[in-house]
Amino acid sequence: MAHPTLSRKQATVVNVIALGTIAALALVSVLSSTSLERSEAETPMLAAPSATVGLIDTQRIVAADEAPGDWLAYGRDYGEQRFSPLTQVNKQTIKDLELAWSFDMYTNRGLEASPIVVDGIMYMTGSWSVVFAVDAKTGEEIWSYDPEVPGDWARKACCDVVNRGVAVYEGAVYIATLDGYLVSLNAETGEVIWRINTIIDRTRAYTITGAPRVANGRVFIGNGGGEFGVRGYVSAYDTKTGDLDWRFFTVPGDPSKPFEHPEMETAASTWKGGEWWKIGGGGTVWNSIVYDADTDTVFLGVGNGSPWTRTIRSPGGGDNLFLSSIVAVNASTGKMRWYYQTTPGDNWDYTAVQDMMLADMEVDGKMRKVIMQAPKNGFFYVLDRQTGELLRANPYVTVNWATHIDMETGRPVENPDKDFLTGESKWILPGPLGGHNWQSMSYNPNTGLVYIPALENPLVFDVEHDFKATGRFKYIEGGWNTGVEFGRIMELLGEHPDLPAGKGYITAFDPLTGKTHWTREHGTHWNGGTLSTAADLVFQGNGDGYFVAYDAKNGDELWKVNTYTSIIAPPITYGVGDEQYVAIQVGSGGAAGLTEGDLAMPASAKYGNFGRMLVFKLNGGLSIDEPEHWAREIPEPPIVEASAAQIQLGSELYGEVCGFCHGIGVYGGPAVPDLRKMSEQTHRMFNEIVLEGVLEDRGMSNFSDRLSASDVDSIYAYINSRAWQDYKVQEDAKAEVKPEAQTSALAN
Ligand code: CA
Repeated sequence: MAHPTLSRKQATVVNVIALGTIAALALVSVLSSTSLERSEAETPMLAAPSATVGLIDTQRIVAADEAPGDWLAYGRDYGEQRFSPLTQVNKQTIKDLELAWSFDMYTNRGLEASPIVVDGIMYMTGSWSVVFAVDAKTGEEIWSYDPEVPGDWARKACCDVVNRGVAVYEGAVYIATLDGYLVSLNAETGEVIWRINTIIDRTRAYTITGAPRVANGRVFIGNGGGEFGVRGYVSAYDTKTGDLDWRFFTVPGDPSKPFEHPEMETAASTWKGGEWWKIGGGGTVWNSIVYDADTDTVFLGVGNGSPWTRTIRSPGGGDNLFLSSIVAVNASTGKMRWYYQTTPGDNWDYTAVQDMMLADMEVDGKMRKVIMQAPKNGFFYVLDRQTGELLRANPYVTVNWATHIDMETGRPVENPDKDFLTGESKWILPGPLGGHNWQSMSYNPNTGLVYIPALENPLVFDVEHDFKATGRFKYIEGGWNTGVEFGRIMELLGEHPDLPAGKGYITAFDPLTGKTHWTREHGTHWNGGTLSTAADLVFQGNGDGYFVAYDAKNGDELWKVNTYTSIIAPPITYGVGDEQYVAIQVGSGGAAGLTEGDLAMPASAKYGNFGRMLVFKLNGGLSIDEPEHWAREIPEPPIVEASAAQIQLGSELYGEVCGFCHGIGVYGGPAVPDLRKMSEQTHRMFNEIVLEGVLEDRGMSNFSDRLSASDVDSIYAYINSRAWQDYKVQEDAKAEVKPEAQTSALAN
């Protein structure tokens, strides 16, 4: 099948459609947002839940194995092992696995969603928090819902305008939007039932990209924004009314004000000497929230400190609870049961928000109910989920910030050779992308192994120069506030010739022995999540654009298909009638998809980043043809007069303001424009784009509050100098290629 979106001409059409839709809907939004936004409990519901579809309840999720064709919750069921009992696709039949249908997601931004499949309908999200309900057998659209997130919200999202999925419960679909609203939709029609604001302070850059979870009439949701200076919390709302049931803060607020709940008193004693509440403190729960039906507990995966550098946040030391912790909370009352902090005094963006999974397993001769996590810090944790007792903590990737976890105290032993607070920059593994990020891992109880999308991508850490020189931290409202020297990152990387190259691989890891059974390295470090099945298959999509099935026991590659689009989303599998389907969204983006552009997403760089849902079944009958090449060369840049000092200043400003979306060192991938390749029109309109927001609807905000006209000139001069540098390399390479080799390269 030649895919309808995979030509440049049509991609332009897609962009125009998206632009037109956003503009048209913006008007609708102005007209209707006040009536949709419910702030008072007595406001009547706008619609009712469906009585016929989306009929998931707590009992049905608990009994998920009885209907193995459904994928009822984010990680299939409450345990979130992403292990499916389906075996029609197995080692013998997988050779016949072919594309059955595809669905255009109308985006070239990142796609990270886990769909939910129930009653023959697939509910999934795309970029900008848009929801689609499609026929799970045919891919035909049933309804869609666009929450009309304003374009300038792209600037507040650290890591792309992505969304990881919906929850479905008792006839309603729950979507949490990038701009912080929680919306209940009728599962049959997509009509809004209620819509509420979940953000406590809308002057701060809070965002939501995570999937809500539901249980016993409550919907649980956190938020993101740790890099921008926010205070983390999780809220539980009544599924029927949208009323707030409880809220659990993850870090203490202003100590001159009363504690919101007693756990904050405990937490406050571990923050010392600073004014963290002014910046926010961090601790956002932006990804994993797992429900345990056995004990009516929700486990919250808590994020990094804001800013990252602990001496800025808490100069008197302390563990800074509950940063980088797994916190177990009574799901009915919001009272804490226990916590375990993976990284006391987080200093490296080591979130513990990575997917958690529940299992019953024998540990040291005793059956235990465990919770498992591979957080960013590189250690794999197995805890007793009833008590929080630490059972195992072994490294699953290369780790150099700590030597090991002391099993007596449960604390990491930090490596003094990698202490960048001494004033010397250090390269550290894992880097801020973690040894594992939000991309889901899966567990196969038959092999006893966890299949982790692992990555090793070091970063050079150095304390922000303002802080180093003056002891004062330069807080930027609504901007990136890490405390780490991103403005000089290219220079710092150059100072460390021993810095290892980034790599990504799938690892089959034994959570009890800490032993790696097998690994398979990918061409890029930024790849998709994994899915395990009872047929001992492991599926994973990767940055190269390949969707691959491995033998769970030995890592043999059993099947693969080139989708010609980089993949970061996790696959799922489901059944309709008597057929098994395997589904995955393709389309790269997210943190590394933006910051490392071409390097992290080679397939999308070559062919374009055209987001689709691809669904496979045995003898599906469709194939994916190689599309036209999308990548284009760097055009000859204009000649710009600029001093070395101005280019240097532009480089620093670019690193602080632009690089998180347009690529560190200007390597912007296809999800956002590569500024080395600007068109004549973009060159002409550069100042209007940056300072007047003429492309705000498309996600390019107005930066006039952050940058002066002279700053923009410096940034432009830096981009121009980089474009010239890379243009010359490109032209020299072309001159060196022999004529016949050049012909075959063009024909490829
Ligand atoms: Ca972070």
